[in-house]
Amino acid sequence: LIAFLLYLFYLMGPIGGLVEGWTGLQSGLAAVRRIDEVESLPGEPSAGPVGVPEAGTPLGVAFQDVTFGYGDERAPAHRGVTFDVPAGGMVALVGPSGAGKSTVFSLLERFYDHDAGTVTVGGRDIRDWPLAELRASIAYVEQDAPVLAGTLRENLVFAAPDAEEKELTDAVARTRLDALVDRLPEGLDTAVGHRGVTLSGGERQRIAIARALLRRPRLLLLDEVTSQLDAVNEQALRDVILELAEQTTVLVIAHRLSTVRHADSIVVLEEGRVRTAGTHEELIASDDLYRELATTQLTAEVR
Ligand code: ADP
Ligand code: MG
Repeated sequence: LIAFLLYLFYLMGPIGGLVEGWTGLQSGLAAVRRIDEVESLPGEPSAGPVGVPEAGTPLGVAFQDVTFGYGDERAPAHRGVTFDVPAGGMVALVGPSGAGKSTVFSLLERFYDHDAGTVTVGGRDIRDWPLAELRASIAYVEQDAPVLAGTLRENLVFAAPDAEEKELTDAVARTRLDALVDRLPEGLDTAVGHRGVTLSGGERQRIAIARALLRRPRLLLLDEVTSQLDAVNEQALRDVILELAEQTTVLVIAHRLSTVRHADSIVVLEEGRVRTAGTHEELIASDDLYRELATTQLTAEVR
């Protein structure tokens, strides 16, 4: 039952009160809206508790001429988006703010349904996936990763309740959370979040990545934090992401040069369309918007 309640919290995402601050409230409101829409999806197979995700094979992703609008008056967020992420590959999304990067993730999680075109995950039309199975296969690390009201341990294992203690300590070490655990009065059993110890954005994202590690996702969606991390944590994150990239498919909204350099390919989004795609070197040579993004928006390695 506890696992199921935690799963409900997981589905609800950053509902106000579980995360601190105004952005938490904003995304909480967005989450409420998402849930309404998810509940009204047609023909939805019953979403049972998530269970332990099988250590499955990596899932590829394909967007084919995808159009999607949030239903307000503005221009659609996606206007014919086409790109491919091969199973096991690592693809980076870059582009100006509002280009449609996060919308890619919202559609893959099926917080919304696209209006036209085709989205496939693992070669299967996304509308044919049972929602619970789809979400159990995907780990989504948000830029402003939510922390649930509860202990640090609960925050780490709620989507992988059967994780063994050794896996937990391993995930903590690999994401360099051990220093945080040492600092907390009751270690892993210290309350964090709303009523507990306040964590930095970088700590919250490392918790989310440790959580993703424990879930062994078949597809990792990562929205990198924009704020600067210190050199040690930056290195730790890069190592863990590269390690994950060897085991699964990674689609990352990149804010770091080190990430785009390691990506198999980079998709440049602009105003809801794919402007161009290629490797870092190719795009530096061929695309002026990418060149501009690389110098102004992508953070160079710290020190
Ligand atoms: P990016 O992640 O590249 O900054 P987004 O995918 O978040 O861009 O947004 C693409 C467009 O969709 C923007 O115009 C944005 O304002 C709009 N948008 C994003 N989320 C919502 C939402 N929940 N409701 C309405 N419009 C949204
Ligand atoms: Mg975004």
